[in-house]
Amino acid sequence: AKGGGRNRFSYFTPTLQVAALNRMRLTNDLRGALKGGQLALYFQPIVHLRTGRIHKAEALIRWTHPQRGMVSPLEFIPLAESSGLIMEIGSWVLRESVQWVRRWRREHHPEFQVSVNQSPLEFQRDDGSYQAWLGELQALDLPGQSVVVEITEGLLLDANSAVSNKLLQLRDAGIQVALDDFGTGYSSLSYLKKFDIDYLKIDRSFTRNLAPDSSDMALSDAIIVMAHKLGLRVIAEGVETAEQRDLLAAAGCDYGQGYLFARPMPAEQFDALLKAQAAQ
Ligand code: C2E
Ligand code: CA
Ligand code: CA
Ligand code: CA
Repeated sequence: AKGGGRNRFSYFTPTLQVAALNRMRLTNDLRGALKGGQLALYFQPIVHLRTGRIHKAEALIRWTHPQRGMVSPLEFIPLAESSGLIMEIGSWVLRESVQWVRRWRREHHPEFQVSVNQSPLEFQRDDGSYQAWLGELQALDLPGQSVVVEITEGLLLDANSAVSNKLLQLRDAGIQVALDDFGTGYSSLSYLKKFDIDYLKIDRSFTRNLAPDSSDMALSDAIIVMAHKLGLRVIAEGVETAEQRDLLAAAGCDYGQGYLFARPMPAEQFDALLKAQAAQ
């Protein structure tokens, strides 16, 4: 019977075990990554479409694993969430972002904003690190508007009081909020009037297939008109071609982000880019 069982499962057990083991190892390594200085923030410009100028940047986390090289956040953020490490990582991201935005505001652009991603888990849980971070902003004499927090629609759909409270807290501190990946998955829009949101980020899946008279063009047009009527600004993600940029600009989209402008880059490199822009 034992042999039969082994045969029955031998097809997938080894791969499942390998995957699980791999996740365990990676989670373990992630614990050391913070202290070991293996994490870094990259920055990707967010460009004002009408003027072509960089007014903001999105902070994107990078992990250089000593053996495996670059590990994608799509792989390790879920591990950080399931292991609870996300709180520690999230507060590192916030503190690190603030240091950079402070420098950039002082040296290159007085109204510069850095946009940071927050996973739902991190957003909802209150471990006090958030308050500490708000205090840090104040101590550095940075206005709340220096920072935009990016959250996803799902969070607002099943918003509990923790979510509402957090949003109010942000609002009180002057911090702005962007809805990330807008248009993917959910169709209820009622939360847009219920919550005070500042930016909609049109998901890359819409930008990708933009062409005159396409359905994605119609959808993008509609999202932009609606957002503006509600007093929100729109950022299009994943802009890769000049045609996409021009179509979005013609539709009245406020900002664009994507490989056409620049890929995410190390902070020092982004600093040089902003410096060059300020000198123009
Ligand atoms: P996201 O927030 O939707 O970030 C945008 C992703 O699109 C980034 O991937 C960025 O590198 C990529 N991207 C930007 N422009 C283009 C383009 O023109 N074409 C294409 N194909 N891709 C483009 P990345 O950096 O790998 O991040 C993946 C996801 O990981 C992010 O998606 C976000 O959900 C998560 N993430 C990244 N950093 C953090 C963080 O600090 N905290 C948390 N909680 N999540 C993060
Ligand atoms: Ca984002
Ligand atoms: Ca996004
Ligand atoms: Ca995403």
